[in-house]
Amino acid sequence: MSEKLRILTGDRPTGKLHLGNFVGTLANRVKLQDEYDCFFLVADLHMLTTRTELERLQQTGENIREVVLDNLSVGIDPDRSTYMLQSLVPAIAEIQLIFSMLVTVPRLQRVPTLKEVMQDLEIEQPSVGLLSYPVLQAADILCVRANLVPVGKDQASHLEVTREVARRFNHLYGEVLPEPDTLIGEVPTLVGTDGQAKMSKSLDNAIYLSDDPKTVEQKVRGMYTDPNRVRADIPGRVEGNPVFIYHDAFNPNVDEVNDLKERYLQGKVGDVEVKKKLAAAINAFLEPIRERRAMFERTSRVVEEILIAGSERGQREAAETLRMMKDAMGLRFISQQ
Ligand code: AMP
Repeated sequence: MSEKLRILTGDRPTGKLHLGNFVGTLANRVKLQDEYDCFFLVADLHMLTTRTELERLQQTGENIREVVLDNLSVGIDPDRSTYMLQSLVPAIAEIQLIFSMLVTVPRLQRVPTLKEVMQDLEIEQPSVGLLSYPVLQAADILCVRANLVPVGKDQASHLEVTREVARRFNHLYGEVLPEPDTLIGEVPTLVGTDGQAKMSKSLDNAIYLSDDPKTVEQKVRGMYTDPNRVRADIPGRVEGNPVFIYHDAFNPNVDEVNDLKERYLQGKVGDVEVKKKLAAAINAFLEPIRERRAMFERTSRVVEEILIAGSERGQREAAETLRMMKDAMGLRFISQQ
């Protein structure tokens, strides 16, 4: 296969992807898909770390489809990149088992996202699976021996665990695994429409890549801005204001954005105009994405075929990694092919 360095990144199939996912990771995936050999993983086993109820799991098939369609619609080309479904690559689970011997429980308890997830979802005690979320992620990344992982900032602490696992493995058994770098998106964490620190499905403060123009207008109209600005003629705050963070991220018309910011600071523009222009910019940004999505939606079984073909390649790569690991560990005392 190619000599290019490798990328692995992925999404849990918990629903549709949003603008935060785009700026955090999808934009880098699109940008780097020619330079790197890219693997995109739909992490259905990771989803189990926070969802185990049967009724919710029954939505997984639909959610897998949405996540793949979202990736296709932003321009991640299945002819150039490999899409794989985690549960179709069982070697990942075996690699995770080996890795789990190389990480201590207190180390995993210190991962900051664990506390955040437990708080958000009101989980009192983490399951073993939730605690080892970063170990499974290390197995995802290292099963294809990836060198770079484009993710949002919230994932940076997980990538530390991946690097530590790789280092520990190589220290014990010899240089087998790469120590992958993290690539954080241009907007490391996009705020929610409600002004909360993070746009997120579970906080219900997201604009989705598949939202129609009217929904976008309505969500932008309801966005949190400067709470102290009760009238349009009061000077407002631009810094940290979600509407301007979104303008900076999605409105390519820099002159328009600068003009709005200046007038906002002077109390010479109303929120209505700022939001109207923002909704128009987001809709223009989403239009080609919607068109591409509609095109893929018209092709039957496209998602299934892409995932089956990609997962076959994933299986070959993961089997090769596992073979290299077991060789290094002396675990292959009976000769196999
Ligand atoms: P998740 O849907 O939480 O599994 O996240 C999938 C990817 O999107 C990960 O790389 C996250 O870091 C990234 N991501 C999720 N929400 C945001 C956000 N609000 N801002 C930036 N990146 C995000």
